[in-house]
Amino acid sequence: MIGVLRLGHRPDRDKRVTTHVALVARALGADKIFIATPDEDLEVRIRSVVRRFGGRFQIETGTNWRSLIKNWRGCRVHLTMYGQRLSDALPSIPKDKPLLLIVGAEKVPKEVYHMADFNVAVGNQPHSEVAALAVFLDRFLEGAAPAHANGEAVILPHPRGKTVVGKGEMPTREGAIALMRSVGCADYVVAHCEAVEELAVRIARRCGADQRLVSVGALLHDIGRSRTHGMSHAIAGARLAMELGLPERIARIIERHIGAGLTASEARALGLPSKSYIPKTLEEKIVAHADNLVGTLKSPTKRIASKQAAERLLKNGTRGGAKRLIALHKELSKKCGIDLDELD
Ligand code: SAM
Repeated sequence: MIGVLRLGHRPDRDKRVTTHVALVARALGADKIFIATPDEDLEVRIRSVVRRFGGRFQIETGTNWRSLIKNWRGCRVHLTMYGQRLSDALPSIPKDKPLLLIVGAEKVPKEVYHMADFNVAVGNQPHSEVAALAVFLDRFLEGAAPAHANGEAVILPHPRGKTVVGKGEMPTREGAIALMRSVGCADYVVAHCEAVEELAVRIARRCGADQRLVSVGALLHDIGRSRTHGMSHAIAGARLAMELGLPERIARIIERHIGAGLTASEARALGLPSKSYIPKTLEEKIVAHADNLVGTLKSPTKRIASKQAAERLLKNGTRGGAKRLIALHKELSKKCGIDLDELD
């Protein structure tokens, strides 16, 4: 838990700076801001940002700052130009205890210097509480700012331009790839997904499926590998997709892409939540099977024959799954008017 205490806020004069202190606190990893002056407008503004852009950041105004500092069960760090150097203090500031960061507006009362466990300077020159807080949080959390993915819109990192995915909206192809990277999927996972997409879209075209849905579903089918490489990556991926506000149709493609799906009893035997993970829609079937026909993560982009894919499933001990894979291969091949092993 990281709290930020903003002292000396004057609602009429400090509106913009205090808003920025709160925004920086939220964006760079703090959990809550306490403002030592009542300010309802500020609360409304910050809560609206949280609703739109996600996270669980909290704001409290009118806080009794003396008792907050006194009763804080953790470490209290006062940011001040007069303090010890940030790089000298950092190694001694505990990471496993709640942290209260105190920043001022105008002159900070002398007692704060004594109540704090550390008085820390971000350069011993006067500048701004916004900058001091930003630098401190970034250094303390080593750049690991939270993704805040549960808002009405998710902003995806992009070297140029803007990629924003709205809740329930289908991302573009480019947005889907950016999303894979932004949640932490390794390059080889992204390359695998692109290879699966390439094949899946060709299958979709031949059998009249929804190409956009297949394309985005295929690109995102392994998004759960940013969390785990076990069998549960499909479930983790579907959960992540819902958190990210992706359409449910995409989450279902992700959840049902393992082999030719899993029955409830197979899922139970694998320690997964007991329900059917069999692909149902044409698009779910296409992504699952294109994934079967594009190598393992050891050779992530290599095409493999359906027989080889079925043998691989057999080796992993799922006889039913291997049979279903062959049946799915036949079903889709028939729909496409070509044996999919011949589609290169
Ligand atoms: N003169 C004021 C004082 O005596 O505290 C400083 C006012 S300054 C505009 C507002 C806040 O910015 C300070 O209370 C402090 O939290 C932060 N600040 C400014 N320069 C800083 C620095 N070099 N290092 C850390 N914090 C700084």
